[in-house]
Amino acid sequence: MNGFRAYYDDGIVIEHGNKRFIIDPLRKPGGSFNAVLITHGHRDHVNPRALHKVSPLVMSSETAAIIRARDGDYLRHFAVGPGSRLIIDDVVIESFNAGHVIGSLSYVLDFGDLRVGVTGGDFNVEPSILLDGAKGA
Ligand SMILES: [Zn+2]
Repeated sequence: MNGFRAYYDDGIVIEHGNKRFIIDPLRKPGGSFNAVLITHGHRDHVNPRALHKVSPLVMSSETAAIIRARDGDYLRHFAVGPGSRLIIDDVVIESFNAGHVIGSLSYVLDFGDLRVGVTGGDFNVEPSILLDGAKGA
């Protein structure tokens, strides 16, 4: 793998150099990957059955709680939240409030020579009654 590639394959796939990240996969992620990121708990963005034993898995604790309450699946994960920075294999994963539902996040993947912003496609830039609007990355 060289250069940058982003495409949709039952989930958003971001490839850069020898790194590969998968966002919101709806089936068990194939091939090698550095991490799987979940933007929020809506069923069209997360399929818990496909995520058992997937590691490392990154999401907010609120999203994990939504999945657990709705689907009965507890998924081992790295809990992140707005403003958090998690480093996996030298890639910095920054999390931002997506303002969509409780616990929804957008991410910036910082590869050092490239920063890539990722949303799950659902975000809201206007503050709503429950949630602050998305903050620009
Ligand atoms: Zn949604």
